[in-house]
Amino acid sequence: MPTVPRSLPDDWFGPLARASARLLMLDYDGTLAPFREERDEAVPYPGVRETLSAILETGRTRLVIVSGRAIDDLLPLLALDPAPEIWGSHGWEQRLPSGERHLLPAPGESTDALAQAQSLAESHGLAGRCETKPACLAVHWRGLSESETAEVRERASALWRPLAENVGLELREFDGGLELRIPGRDKGCVVEAILSGAPPGAFAAYLGDDLTDEDAFRALGSRGLSVLVREKSRASAASHWIHPPEELLAFLQRWAQCDQSRP
Ligand SMILES: [Mg+2]
Repeated sequence: MPTVPRSLPDDWFGPLARASARLLMLDYDGTLAPFREERDEAVPYPGVRETLSAILETGRTRLVIVSGRAIDDLLPLLALDPAPEIWGSHGWEQRLPSGERHLLPAPGESTDALAQAQSLAESHGLAGRCETKPACLAVHWRGLSESETAEVRERASALWRPLAENVGLELREFDGGLELRIPGRDKGCVVEAILSGAPPGAFAAYLGDDLTDEDAFRALGSRGLSVLVREKSRASAASHWIHPPEELLAFLQRWAQCDQSRP
């Protein structure tokens, strides 16, 4: 994959302003909120909540948060009232703006294997670094030194790889940790689900920073704006790249203005 050198085109909001329907899909950690050593302190950049609320208030955009976090983990950090639509745990769970929830069923064998992986991690000193969520178990190493990170990565990989291979689970690294996931859902599936329900002529955008967002960028393809939100560009399937938080906030504010100015 090529690196993404391009900023957004100057007139990107022209097609947005003219579109009959709008879809704004946003990753959370690293995109709307800066990383924190303590995961439960990762609140949005200043101005983000207000701007998202302004977009939600108009009711003219289907705004969706798409995260690897569990929804219950995300809601208090996002702290939007009313809360928007959220797809959590890499697309295994969905919360509608009404508060209605859907959890996709996972195979029992895979769920048992995740429970076993958690017991293994806990009995090998990783309990405090583990996060359990629907269809996924993660170990986090953000804030550790290079040598400590390598040690946690190796220990978790050694414990989980045999289980992953036996039962067919995915072992994937993300920015700050390693995840053992039940396959079959990812952020690309979420983008497909959202686009499949969109009216013709809808303007869609997906903003994300992490390797797990690449599935979403690929799923969106040429059907919308795919935007990598990072300090430094990297190889990505995204078509554009912006710096957080200034360019991110400018993007969201411009989106809100388009929504507000429409009759
Ligand atoms: Mg992220």
